[in-house]
Amino acid sequence: LLELRKLNKHFGGLHVTNSVDLTLQAGEIHCLIGPNGAGKSTLFRLILGEHHPGSGDILFAGENITALKSFARIRRGLSVKFQVPGVFKGLSVRQNLEIALQSRHRGAELESEIGRLLSFLGLESEQAQIAGNLSHGQKQWLEIGMAVSLKPRLLLLDEPTAGMSPEETHTTGEMVQRLNADGMTVLAIEHDMAFVRQVAHRVTVLHLGQVFAQGSIDEIVADERVAAIYLGQAHA
Ligand code: ATP
Ligand code: MG
Repeated sequence: LLELRKLNKHFGGLHVTNSVDLTLQAGEIHCLIGPNGAGKSTLFRLILGEHHPGSGDILFAGENITALKSFARIRRGLSVKFQVPGVFKGLSVRQNLEIALQSRHRGAELESEIGRLLSFLGLESEQAQIAGNLSHGQKQWLEIGMAVSLKPRLLLLDEPTAGMSPEETHTTGEMVQRLNADGMTVLAIEHDMAFVRQVAHRVTVLHLGQVFAQGSIDEIVADERVAAIYLGQAHA
């Protein structure tokens, strides 16, 4: 569904993504891990079109989208939940979902889509609550709800479980699995290995802007080279 070919991005003298090749099969849940500053969030911005690569190509569903603007990529079925919260803190949960849905749905259909999302997120009793007053985990779920509201084909999640308790993290994993069961392909940047183990079909390790390792979670945790980069000892 998504293919990155030799993606390069520099910020000044910093080589943030270094010839990154990555292929996502339709239907997979793929986790992207790696130390802070590895270039993970930058890779998401390249996929979404918020940054443009110095060289390399991005293919989505067989189409080269490298030159397309963000909105055109979103229209083709890409959606992102970023690391930094984007919910409207002063509006209610329901109003936030309404904003996310209103470009595609009106009237009774809009109401039923809001109800569907509230139930999916487990936020029915919080629908009238001001988003800024939600717990941290609930805010993250609302973010996820907004990102999936228009049923994207590919969902990119940047640290969806950041700051969550183990129970909330597990619930988030179940949400991702339900979305995947409904046909959504997921690429998630994640630091929580319990979450990666729970959901990932495949894992890619990014280090110093390069694909350092790829495999199942068992292969990755057994890889001493990967352990070494987290201890700051390895060089790409
Ligand atoms: P983290 O796990 O901390 O979120 P990350 O893997 O997502 O890290 P990025 O945010 O992609 O890392 O950043 C990779 C490198 O690029 C870092 O050294 C960062 O300081 C740098 N960087 C990111 N965005 C910019 C920018 N807009 N301009 C200049 N440098 C940037
Ligand atoms: Mg990041």
